[in-house]
Amino acid sequence: MRTILCILSICVSFVVNAQGFDLHFEHKTLRLDYIFSGDTNSRNISLEALSQYPQWAGKTKRLTVNPLKGNGNIQIKDKATGKLIYTNSFSSLFQEWLDTNEAKTTRRAYENTCLIPYPKAEVEVTITLSDMSHKEIARLTHTVRPADILIRKKGFEDITPYRIIHKGDVKNPINVVILAEGYTAPEMNAFYTDAQKAVESILSHEPFQSLQNHFNFVAVSSQSNDRGVSIPHQDRWRSTAFSSHFDTFYSERYLTTSKVYAIHDALAGIPYEHIIILANTNQYGGGGIYNAYTLTAAHHETFGAVVVHEFGHSFGGLADEYFYEEDVSDLADEIYPLNVEPWEQNITTLVQFDKKWKNQLKENTPIPTPESEKSKYPIGVYQGGGYATKGVYRPAVDCRMRTNTYPEFCPVCQEALKKLIHFYTEE
Ligand SMILES: [Zn+2]
Repeated sequence: MRTILCILSICVSFVVNAQGFDLHFEHKTLRLDYIFSGDTNSRNISLEALSQYPQWAGKTKRLTVNPLKGNGNIQIKDKATGKLIYTNSFSSLFQEWLDTNEAKTTRRAYENTCLIPYPKAEVEVTITLSDMSHKEIARLTHTVRPADILIRKKGFEDITPYRIIHKGDVKNPINVVILAEGYTAPEMNAFYTDAQKAVESILSHEPFQSLQNHFNFVAVSSQSNDRGVSIPHQDRWRSTAFSSHFDTFYSERYLTTSKVYAIHDALAGIPYEHIIILANTNQYGGGGIYNAYTLTAAHHETFGAVVVHEFGHSFGGLADEYFYEEDVSDLADEIYPLNVEPWEQNITTLVQFDKKWKNQLKENTPIPTPESEKSKYPIGVYQGGGYATKGVYRPAVDCRMRTNTYPEFCPVCQEALKKLIHFYTEE
């Protein structure tokens, strides 16, 4: 009886896996380029281009589940049956921009790219964007025929040179690529040294340290014409691989790029899912967007801390635990509405605290937890976080997601990252 059950369960798991991936997908990538456009009042998603890469480097299990909600979502349905066969979540610079004052008066367009496994049959793709109250604000549904002759093949030849920095040994490691931004051809060895430093810094933080065999890190030598990156508040503009610049939304230290297609063009043919871009500058700054990219200055003294903080955003979907006493940018007043529970795992508005770290609290932990009690409650509910001094709470007094001086992630961030790593890699 036991033998029969065993055989049955092997068969069942084989069928589930086959249905999950091999039944519907080839081990190649379909790259979907979109334009997100609009203003505070009306938003649009348009399809720009489709392309095919020679391999797939994302998840092959738990295809129809998202570990985190994100601000955007892509769903793939088998056209013949209407069945959901793949989903992923993400956030975008466009949605951050919608929270600026400029978005109240001006329409803008942003590039955005999604990668999905290459479908074997016709599929229906639905991409949606949500606002900070989790209300849908834009949607596009379109069909993809895998044999469409206008799907351009990329990455089959002329692949950007790259070097393996760290190799995981689990069956399906998480593939992270590190790109060079503002490094000229003769500076590539310096870039490889910086990429090595970034990986060492990430892998010196828990839970990445204990789970380092779950990651592959590869450094890609994307070359720039000019050295350094653009710094608008110093009137310095540079011609670089991804046209990144400081002063995003007029915030001096916010370093981002809106040239998303260029990033993915540089990566065609290289197995990747998560992206880190190192900028060849000693100016302080960076940015990280969930399931989009991390971008950080490689020659500032805080590099090691900042690259891990931004990777906490782009890989881990963690929120900023810091808050400002005064306005320092064009961002509108309140980022997280206080009547909605944010989807990020390391902040809460207490609207649905059960979904957060309530089960990690010691019995009788006061809410809010006074900072004077921090030694008694290493995990608490401390007021201030997500850019707000009041109404948003964080799990610990300090954390890698709050300051560059604190040496590690707080226990709640560590737990959230651990769960996510297992989501991607568990058999
Ligand atoms: Zn934290």
